[in-house]
Amino acid sequence: METGIISNCTRCGQGIKNIFEYQGKPYGSECVQIVSGIKVWEMGNKRNVDEYIKFKADRHAQIEARETEEQKTREYYYEKNGWLIDYLMDKDNKRYYPPSGIEIRIQEKGFCYSIAQELFMKEIEDLTDRQFQIVADMWSKEFGGRSGSKKYDKAWDEFCDKCGLE
Ligand SMILES: [Zn+2]
Repeated sequence: METGIISNCTRCGQGIKNIFEYQGKPYGSECVQIVSGIKVWEMGNKRNVDEYIKFKADRHAQIEARETEEQKTREYYYEKNGWLIDYLMDKDNKRYYPPSGIEIRIQEKGFCYSIAQELFMKEIEDLTDRQFQIVADMWSKEFGGRSGSKKYDKAWDEFCDKCGLE
């Protein structure tokens, strides 16, 4: 079906110049919206509604697949890093609902929050040295004691053990 050729709309019978094709039949722009439910403005220069519907469905499926993949990645890393993610999220001082509610955590988005977000996507050992030092220090002071004390050193070692590091 070419545009520019006078034809008659399948729905209303009027002569049409700007032809849209839907289920193999010609329609004017208003009628095609009524029968297909697709808004013609969103089709741009496309005139074949069937192809456009397929295009939309494919795009939707791609987005869903990507979201599923991202969610799987987050779950994978939460499994490994969840203990530290939870600790860091709590440092930002807001309630949240792990682990099924991963997406509804709303935080103040400080330093701890941003590291926690990184830990949904990477290994603890892939944090920068600076990030790791700060987190280990925070942990060791909280569960050990003042910097340089034996308790602090012990907590640091335990932290490294939990991270799977020597
Ligand atoms: Zn019509």
